[in-house]
Amino acid sequence: MLPLAAVLLALQGPVVSDTSPFRALPLPAPNRVRGPSGAPGPDYWQQRADYVIRATLDTAGSLLHGTGRIHYENHSPDTLRFVWVQIEQNIFSKNSVTYALNQPPLHFAGGAVFDFTGKGFIGGITIERFRSAGRELERTEYGTMMRVELPRPLAPKGTIDFDIAWHFPVPPYGGGRMGRIGTRLYEMGQWYPRMVVYDDVHGWNPLPYIGAGEFYLEYGDFDVTLTLPSGFVVAATGTVQNPLAVWSATERARLARARASAERVEVITKAEATAHGSQRTPGTKTWRFAARRVRDFAWAASPDYRWDASAWNGVLIQTFYRPSAAPWEEANRMAWFTIKHFSETWGMYPWPHATTVEGLVEGMEYPMLTFVPAIEKREDQYWVLTHEFGHEWFPMMVGSDERRYPWMDEGFNSFIDYGSAEGYFKGTAYGDTVRRELLTAYGVSAVPGNEQPLITNPVESRDLAWTAYQKPALMLTVLRDAVLGKETFERALREYVRRWTFKHPQPADFFRTIENVSGRNLDWFWRAWVYTTARLDQAVDSVGTAGDTTFVFLSNRGQMVLPVTLELRYADGSSERRELPIEMWNLGSRFTSRIRTGGNAIAGVVVDPQAIYPDVDRANNRWPR
Ligand SMILES: [Zn+2]
Repeated sequence: MLPLAAVLLALQGPVVSDTSPFRALPLPAPNRVRGPSGAPGPDYWQQRADYVIRATLDTAGSLLHGTGRIHYENHSPDTLRFVWVQIEQNIFSKNSVTYALNQPPLHFAGGAVFDFTGKGFIGGITIERFRSAGRELERTEYGTMMRVELPRPLAPKGTIDFDIAWHFPVPPYGGGRMGRIGTRLYEMGQWYPRMVVYDDVHGWNPLPYIGAGEFYLEYGDFDVTLTLPSGFVVAATGTVQNPLAVWSATERARLARARASAERVEVITKAEATAHGSQRTPGTKTWRFAARRVRDFAWAASPDYRWDASAWNGVLIQTFYRPSAAPWEEANRMAWFTIKHFSETWGMYPWPHATTVEGLVEGMEYPMLTFVPAIEKREDQYWVLTHEFGHEWFPMMVGSDERRYPWMDEGFNSFIDYGSAEGYFKGTAYGDTVRRELLTAYGVSAVPGNEQPLITNPVESRDLAWTAYQKPALMLTVLRDAVLGKETFERALREYVRRWTFKHPQPADFFRTIENVSGRNLDWFWRAWVYTTARLDQAVDSVGTAGDTTFVFLSNRGQMVLPVTLELRYADGSSERRELPIEMWNLGSRFTSRIRTGGNAIAGVVVDPQAIYPDVDRANNRWPR
């Protein structure tokens, strides 16, 4: 029998906390909604919101006026007494966090600037009505969020229809994500009241829209009717439902040709666009669009658009741009390659068209529709274009929570963008080296004491370009090239896309999916890369020989652990590479590799010979020094 004190200690477990890099990551326990394998569980649920919208754009006053119906389905096991609605145009109103703080703009590598204050524009949305069954509902606005009291509790499996009307002045510069150029070009996002996500992890998710954090949205169907001056050409999420009313016979014939063409067909030529632009067409025209299984709806309109189209695998690839945007003649081919590449590598594009429009927005993504500026340098043009389309996979298909976890959409997307750029520019100096910029960025951005972990909220991030975009892209590159291998990695990421398309994954669902498909415990990897700013320093301490065995004394001098690739250089001039798996560090931060040399003496040793790791001290990677 043990003394009492020892019994108590035994019940409490070890008194010294486990500091092993391989200790379990404290993830939320799996349950019937989110399963232990990282897949949606048997009781997985998410809410559904369908929208019917009629909107009019008054270009003279730059005013958007909308009415509509939101059909909301409660698939949760909870009874809801109120709902939260996003009214993001209020980022430009005086009651928003952004206005109150008047924060400086966010700068990105390459010169893109996102000024969420709208460069001083003061606007905001006016909710004219928010009714159900003819009754005005009590509502409270908190900046970009609005709580609406339900007339009666909404039980599980219950549905409710909201009858709404609103208007807002269209900002000239909508925080970098929307806006207009005078009264001739409109790029419209965050333009209608959207249901806040209610999920099994946080319940309602009414985090304010401050700027850096993007969107977390429910899936549903859209029926959208837009009335604009009749000279405008409109591109939108969804397909046109009234082609005879909005397109000329010539445009319809050219579009039919484009549907069977891998090369761009000019639906509106440069000469036609220029002629349209100088015409004054009186009256208005009404466009009707329908979209299925999307988490948002955006649109763009201008009387000046050129319009190119082609098709890949039944997907219509469209580019709309002004005659002045000269490099855009190649944009359709760029878009075509992008959609094909991402579909074949990560999962098939699920919607009928993929469209990008040129304009003032520096780069923004919506389902089926992206906003991309004209950029002089071809490589930079491709990068922004492929990046915005990459968002069709993350987060338009895989509907993660962008407001909390930008690394799960911006980061995963940046990772796949490198593959896309490598493919489009294959065989060129740019294509063959572009991914190396991630290690250069590591040297610049991963500054101890200043760097923040990926899991940091975007609105608390001091260097969003690094924590949300580049570091997660580097993380997945290292996971692919050094830990799992290309085939296993790609199979795992494809399975994550397959499991979570049109759903709402959380970080743990991603971690568990990759671990289950690859058959590897990666808690050590996620901890270092996602939850900490651990740095890597692998070293060859020394090399010794006894008989025909050479001992390579290795050490791990940082907090991050990774497998080791050893290059052995022999006295006879030959060399070989050996992969030492992660288990080498199971017993601590020192490891001795025993190599039978068979009389061929080792003249040199290099750790990470291809320099694919962000090793913070490369001088100690080689022996002799
Ligand atoms: Zn992005």
